[in-house]
Amino acid sequence: MAATAERPARIVIENCAVATVDARDTEYAQGHVVVAGQVIESVGEGKAPEGLENVVRRIDGTGHLVTPGLVNTHHHFYQWLTRGLATDHNLFDWLVALYPTWARIDEPMVHAAAQGSLAMMARGGVTTAMDHHYVFPRGTGDLAGAIVRAARETGVRFTLARGSMDRGESDGGLPPDFAVESLDGALAATERTVARHHDASFGSMTQVAVAPCSPFSVSTELMREGAGLARRLGVRLHTHGSETVEEEKFCHELFGMGPTAYFESTGWLGEDVWMAHCVHMNDADIAAFARTGTGVAHCPSSNARLAAGIARVPDMLAAGIPVGLGVDGTASNESGELHTELRNALLVNRLGPHREAALTARQALRLGTHGGARVLGREAEIGSLEPGKLADLVLWRMDTLAHASIADPVAALVLGAAAPVTLSLVGGVPVVEDGRLLTVDEDAVARTTRDEARRLARVTAGEE
Ligand SMILES: [Zn+2]
Repeated sequence: MAATAERPARIVIENCAVATVDARDTEYAQGHVVVAGQVIESVGEGKAPEGLENVVRRIDGTGHLVTPGLVNTHHHFYQWLTRGLATDHNLFDWLVALYPTWARIDEPMVHAAAQGSLAMMARGGVTTAMDHHYVFPRGTGDLAGAIVRAARETGVRFTLARGSMDRGESDGGLPPDFAVESLDGALAATERTVARHHDASFGSMTQVAVAPCSPFSVSTELMREGAGLARRLGVRLHTHGSETVEEEKFCHELFGMGPTAYFESTGWLGEDVWMAHCVHMNDADIAAFARTGTGVAHCPSSNARLAAGIARVPDMLAAGIPVGLGVDGTASNESGELHTELRNALLVNRLGPHREAALTARQALRLGTHGGARVLGREAEIGSLEPGKLADLVLWRMDTLAHASIADPVAALVLGAAAPVTLSLVGGVPVVEDGRLLTVDEDAVARTTRDEARRLARVTAGEE
C-alpha cells in the first residue's frame, strides 16, 4: 500500500537500548522507536505498540543502542584536500603555511572535498552537518552551489556558513591579498547565497548562515555589516572566536580590546550567533555569552592539534551557554569524524581544573546531539528522540569485539572505539546501512578526493 501524508510509511525499531537525550535524559535499557514518514511517532520502553498500520520495515535492534543523529557545528570541507600538512604548527603559523594552497581551490576540488568530508561524517553517525566556507578565489566557479550539491547527494541535513575574508596582508590581516574578497563583493555574494539556498521550513535540508571568517581576516565593517545582513535576512551568524593567545594579542593590538568585547562592539553577541572554539574566555566573557545566549562550537581535537588550549566547557554549561561539538576543518583534525569529538570533549576537559567532574559520558553525548541542534537554532526539530521531532537517528552496533563487554551503552559509545553504524536515518530516510553509505559510492569519493588533492598540490606548485 502506498504511503501518503495521512498514511505515512512506518519504520519500527525495537529490542535495543534507547538514549533519547530529552530534557530528562530519559533512557530505556530495552526500548523502541517508531518513525512515521519524516518524524518520530513514539519512543518508549519495551516493544512498539501493537496494530500499527503501514509498517514498511521492522528492525530487530538486539545488541544495539539508538541515539539522536550526531550534529556537527563547525567544519571546513575544502580542507579535506590538505590533510596531513603543517602538522607541527600553531594556528597562525599553520594558516600562513596553508593559505597559498587554499587560495588555489576551484569548483571541482571544492565539490570533491565536500563529498569526502560529508561521507566521512555520515558513515560515522552524523545526520546534520555544517560547512564554514570562507575561501572564494575570483573566477573559480560556483563554490557555494558545489557544496550544497554535495550535501544533497550525501543526504545529510546541512547548514552552509557562507564565509568571507576582506582583510588581506596589506591591511594587517593574515591571508594573502589574492585570497580575499572586497567588502561589497562578500556581502552581495552572501546575500545571493541565502536567497538561492536557505530554506527556513520545518525539516529543511539546507540552511545558510552569514559567516565572516575571523577577526584577523575580516574588516570591522564586514563584521558589522555582516551582522546587519544576517538580521535583515533572518538567518544565523557564525565565525571563529577566542581561539588562541595570538588572536587575543592581535585583537588587543588592533582594536584595543579582547575578542569578546570586539564581538559585542560589532553586534556579534546574540542568540542567533554561534562561534567556533572560544578557548580563551575569562569569567566576564563567559557571562557575556550567557547573558546574550551566544552559542559555542567546541572543537577539542583541532584545539589540541594546533596547541590552542582547552575551552572552559564545564563553566560554559554551568552558565547556560548553548554548546555543540565541531570537528573543525580536516587540515587540523585529519580524522574528520565526530565520534572523536564526543570522546575528546570528555577527556580534554577532565585534564582541566574540573578534573573528573568536568563532563560525564551523557553530557558528551548531549553536546554532540541536542547541544549541536541548539547551536544551529534547530532544537525544535532535531537533537533528541521525541515524538514530533524529525527522525534523524542512529542505530549503533554494540555487540561486536569493540563494545560487547562494556557495561553501559552510552559509555561504550562515548569512551569506546568508534561504533559501527547499522542504520542511520535523516528525516526517516536511510543514509547508512551496515556501515556503508547508501547515497554515494565511498570508494569513488576516495579516488576523486585523492586525485583532486594531487591536482591542488600541482596547481599550487605552478605545475598546472
Ligand atoms: Zn575553523
